[in-house]
Amino acid sequence: MSNVETRPVEQTVCDGPPAGEGEPDIELLQPREVPLGGPRAMLVRRSLPNRDRRMVGAWCFADSYGPTRITGEAGMQVPPHPHTGLQTVSWLLDGEVLHQDSLGSRRTVRPGELNLMTAGAGIAHSEESPPDHSDTLHGVQLWVAQPEEHRNGPAHFDHYGDLPAFTEPGGTVTVIMGELAGAASPARAYTPLVGADVALDGGGTGGDGRLRLPVQPDFEHAVLALSEPVTADGRTVAPGSMLYLGRGRREVVLAAEKPARALLLGGVPFEEHLVMWWNFVARTHEEIVEARTAWEAERELADGGARFGAVRGYAGPALPAPALPNAQLRARPRYRAPGTRRDG
Ligand code: MN
Repeated sequence: MSNVETRPVEQTVCDGPPAGEGEPDIELLQPREVPLGGPRAMLVRRSLPNRDRRMVGAWCFADSYGPTRITGEAGMQVPPHPHTGLQTVSWLLDGEVLHQDSLGSRRTVRPGELNLMTAGAGIAHSEESPPDHSDTLHGVQLWVAQPEEHRNGPAHFDHYGDLPAFTEPGGTVTVIMGELAGAASPARAYTPLVGADVALDGGGTGGDGRLRLPVQPDFEHAVLALSEPVTADGRTVAPGSMLYLGRGRREVVLAAEKPARALLLGGVPFEEHLVMWWNFVARTHEEIVEARTAWEAERELADGGARFGAVRGYAGPALPAPALPNAQLRARPRYRAPGTRRDG
C-alpha cells in the first residue's frame, strides 16, 4: 500500500527529553482517516505514525481498512510507487490483493498469508484488487523500519502461505513476524519484534474468555483492534484504534465480548530517529530529496531506472511523488511527550 496523501505533512520538532522519559505506560491511540488515492479513494484508518507516538518497536506505519463491500467496484487500486528503508507487511482478514513489484514478483495475498516486501535502498510495487476479486476487502498494511545496517541493502519479496499458529483458551494466534509463545514466523525481520494476528473467541472478558499471551519484557507492545472491540488490560479498544501497552510486561491479556480480530505488535524500542515522508523511510532531508528525485526521473521509463526499477505487469502510469514541503524535513524520535512539540 502507498501513502498517497497528496500533501504529506512532516512536522518539525524541537529537542525534548530523551526517549523513555515521561512516557505513559498505557496510551489509547486514535486513528485518522486517510484516503488511499485513486478516482474512488478508499478510506483507511491510520494508527501509526500517531501524533506523538510514531512507532511501536520497529513498526512505523499501520493502516487498517474495511470490511468494505467492493462488489462490482475496482476495490484497491494503488499504482506503482517506490519505497525505501522499510518492509511492507500485507495481511488480510477478507478478500485478496495482487502485489507486483520491480523485481518481477507477482503474488496474490489472501487471508492467513503474508506478503512481505523488503525495500532496502529501493523498490517499486503496485497493489490492486484483481478483476475477479471477492465481495469484501478487509485488511491491514504495516511498515517495519529497517535499521541503519540494513536499510540500504538489497530489495526482496517473500510470500509465506503457512505461518505458525496456536490455540489457547480464549482464542487462536497466528505469528506473522517474530516469535510469540515459542512459535516463530519464518519471515525475516531486522530487529527483535513481534507481529501476531489474534482471533478471540469472544467468550467475554472474564475467566476463560481471556487469552493470555506471554511477551518479551524488553519489548514495547500495542494492540490494534481490527473488527469488533477488544479489551486489553481491561481497557476497550475500538476497531482501528490502538492501545499502546508500554514496556516491561511478561503477559498481555486480551478478551472480547464477541468473536474479534486484533493484532499484537511489539518490539525493542527503535531508537534511530526517522524521517518519514510519502513512501520513504530515511534519516535526513537530503536522503528524502535524493529518493524523490530518483523516482521522478525513473517512474516514466518503461524499463525503470537503476534505483527503483519498473513494475512491468501493471496497466497504467506510476504514481508521481507529491511536492516537497518548503520546510526542511527533520528526523523524529519514536515518541515525543506532548507539550514538547513546537507545532502543537
Ligand atoms: Mn506501498
